[in-house]
Formats: sequence, structure tokens, C-alpha cells
Amino acid sequence: MEAQDAWKAALNQLEIQLDRANFDTWLRDTVFLALEAPDEPDKAATFVIGVRSSYARDNLQHRLYRSVRRVLRDVYGGPVELQFQIHKCEETAALEPADDMPLFRYMAHQPADTPSVPLYEQLAPPRQPDLPESHLNPRYTFDRFIVGGVNNLLFSAAQAVADHPASVYNPFVVYGGVGLGKTHLLQAIGHACQARGLRVIYIPSEAFINDLVAAIRNRTTAMFRDKYRSIDVLLVDDIQFIAGKESTQEEFFHTFNALHTFNKQIVIASDRHPRQLEQLEDRLRSRFEGGLVMDIQLPEFETRVAILESWAQERGIHVARSVCETIAERAHTSIRELEGLFTQIVAKTQLSQQPLTRATAERIVEQYERPRQHGKARITLEQVLNMTADHHELTPKDLTGKRRTGRINHARQIAMYLAREITDASLPQIGDAFGGRSHTTVLHGYNKVAELMEEDDNFRYELMALRERILRGED
Ligand code: ADP
Ligand code: MG
Repeated sequence: MEAQDAWKAALNQLEIQLDRANFDTWLRDTVFLALEAPDEPDKAATFVIGVRSSYARDNLQHRLYRSVRRVLRDVYGGPVELQFQIHKCEETAALEPADDMPLFRYMAHQPADTPSVPLYEQLAPPRQPDLPESHLNPRYTFDRFIVGGVNNLLFSAAQAVADHPASVYNPFVVYGGVGLGKTHLLQAIGHACQARGLRVIYIPSEAFINDLVAAIRNRTTAMFRDKYRSIDVLLVDDIQFIAGKESTQEEFFHTFNALHTFNKQIVIASDRHPRQLEQLEDRLRSRFEGGLVMDIQLPEFETRVAILESWAQERGIHVARSVCETIAERAHTSIRELEGLFTQIVAKTQLSQQPLTRATAERIVEQYERPRQHGKARITLEQVLNMTADHHELTPKDLTGKRRTGRINHARQIAMYLAREITDASLPQIGDAFGGRSHTTVLHGYNKVAELMEEDDNFRYELMALRERILRGED
């Protein structure tokens, strides 16, 4: 095929493969400029492609190079390299009819003597079991993951995995609730490994299932296996969805073993500890537990504030510390929630052009919380006291009273911790409810429990379970 046509065909394929924003931003306006023949036969020819800006050039060069090259190579039928040059050209815009049907656009641009490779061939997915460049979210990098306190260790472990794939912790399993940053961390490992030229697949387990089902249907299981076994790093997200799916687990088990045997890194995210994935086959469970299993937790208040500040900085806006604190205080379930609140507040203040004060933020947070709490009463201090006491086989009076035996004191501090985490009460209000104690006593109790949570896994599980029960309003 002529080089120029190959570029057009490659663009049409890329339009299908990439998400729209990526394609429109970086590739739609590119033009074919020249083909530089290789110095020696068998070596790669270089496609010289015109782009509109140096920004587009850098991005294509650094982020999309391999996806583009792979597609182009398949279309062109031989090894290729790419070179991007800045090129401003009015014709570019005129070239593309304004329709949204890439196939038709492609045909419209075909010269009369169209080369013999049929269209469906050119638009087919790559024939070789080549690496699908994983579509990693460009925002999910290590440097955008703010670390502090509870997640320090986890972050270091993830970095160690990325720095020394398959040699430190293999598999590396991260588990924890929704919106705490598991996907972000998995993809950060992916980015770091890709940057060093390793072949990475990031895949949510549902997509792995779909892929497998399609391979079985199309009788391409051999290709499926090659694909997943020819990589350096496999990142499987939300593994909980393969629990209970026998044939998928079977295939995954073999994939896992093949990769592990050949010293390839496997990273897994789950919403629960593998032990608690009830329908996971034992042999997979024991494989997972043979690696490093770590949980991810909601970062403490200070870190949540730091996350907000980094987001503000990223967007080039100024958000007062007191506003960040207001948001960070309210978002106590996940970073996703923090993100939701932040986005709302930024959007609303931009729309209404109000200054971003603490009061504005508070009002917006209120509005945001109302629908969420619809039909559900807020958690009261009384509920926390009752349920914590009950859990420890004590009475609420024990917790609010003066006695200071070890057992009572421990339960009291847990109740203070929970009161601060899941009710709206301020420290002095909590102190009052605990028999007129000072807010520093409450804070001391809170910190004690937070510390213990870091040290003691079992304690943390128990506390989390109690917290869930209170939030669900069980008795
Ligand atoms: P999960 O996969 O655990 O449900 P995600 O990885 O999707 O959670 O994280 C939810 C959002 O919170 C993402 O936008 C992510 O970038 C952000 N996020 C989570 N943890 C952090 C952190 N420590 N620093 C910055 N952003 C974070
Ligand atoms: Mg996720």
C-alpha cells in the first residue's frame, strides 16, 4: 500500500481504537508528509507525519508512539518508525469531510486505483498477538498520588514493584473499599513500567472475562493465551468479579502460573482481602496470598487536605486552606467522594463567580450531602455510644462515666474515634457527650485508636466492621 494511504488507514483504525478525546486532540489533524526509506532492506521505514503543535508532537512521541506504530505497521505490512514534525497546513482541515463515519471517510479518500488489500483487512484488529497498548489514564501516575500516614507503606511497596518488577513482591495484591485509589495505584505501576519499555496490560477482571468469552467464541484462544502470556506486567483490577466464574478462574490460574513461572510481575486489586473472596478457588487464593497483600485505607484528614491542594494546583486555581479543610472534613468515606465535592465546589463557584470562601464551601457541601442522606438519618453520638458499648459488652454509661479500667478506656477511645469519623459532632461536642471531657482528651483518644489501627490488622478489621454496622444502622 502507498505510504499515504497506509497513514489514512492507520488513522481510521486508531479512531476506532482510541477514545475519542485522545484521537481528536492528537491525531485527527495530522498529515502524512513523507516516507523515508530504510538504509538497509528489512529495516524500518520512517513515516514523517505533520502535526499542529509541539505539544501534539511531544504527546505523540511519548505517549502514543507505540500504539500508533503498531497499527501503522499492521496496515503497512512491514516495520515502521515515526517521526513527527510541526506542520501548519490549511488543507488539513479541508481534507476531512465533516461526517462521523470513519469507514466512509476512508473510502471517500481512496484513490481510484485502490490497492488490493481489502478494507476489512485494513480495519481488522492487528493479526499478530501483539500487545494492546493498555489505555492507562494519564492522570493515574505516582506523582499524582499523594501519600501520607496510613498509605505510606503501601505506596512504597507499589513503587518497589514498579522499580523491580517480578523481583520483590509477586504477586502484589492491593485490597480495600471503593474510591480509595486502587485503580490509580495499579495504573501508576503500569505507567512506570511502560516508561521503561516493559510490556504492560492493565485489565479490569470483567474485561478479562469478556476477552476470554470472545476468544472461545471466535476460536482464538491460542491468541488469547499468547497475548496474556507474552507480557512483562499484568495488572488485573477488581478481581472480585471473577470469583464464582469457574472457567475464567481456570484460565486465569493458568495465565497466572505462566507469567509467574517466567518471572513476570502480576498486580491485583480487589475490594476485599483474598481470604474474604468467598467464591475464589483455593488455589488462586493461595497464589495471591503467596505474594504481598496490602490494604488501602482512607488517608487521614491532613493527607486529604494535601490531595485537595494538589488538585487545586493542578488546575491552576487558588483554594484557601480553610476551604480545603471544610471539604476534607466532610469527605470521610473515600477519595472519590473528596473528588466529587471538590469538583462541585470548583464548578459552582466558577459559575456563580462567588469568591471561594469557607462559608460558600460549607453551603455547597450541605447541598451535596442532602440528597445523599436522603431518607437516612445522620449518625448521632448516641448511636455511636450505644453500638460501641454493645460491641464491647459494656453499657453506654460505662463509656461516659469516670471509670478508667483498661477495657473501658479502650472502648471509650474507640467510641471517640468513631464519633469523630462518622458523626458531624465537633471535638468539644464529643467531649460533652462523653461525660464532659475536654476536646484534647477526645483528640488523644482518637489518635490512640488511629495509631493502633496502623499497627494491628485485626484491630483495624474489627473496627471497620463496627463502623460499617453503625453506618448501616444495624443494632
Ligand atoms: P478505587 O479503584 O480504589 O475505587 P480509584 O483509583 O478509582 O479508586 O480512585 C478514585 C479517585 O481518587 C481517582 O480519581 C484517584 O485519582 C483519586 N485518588 C485516590 N487516592 C489518591 C491519592 N492518594 N492522591 C491523589 N488522588 C487519589
Ligand atoms: Mg477501581
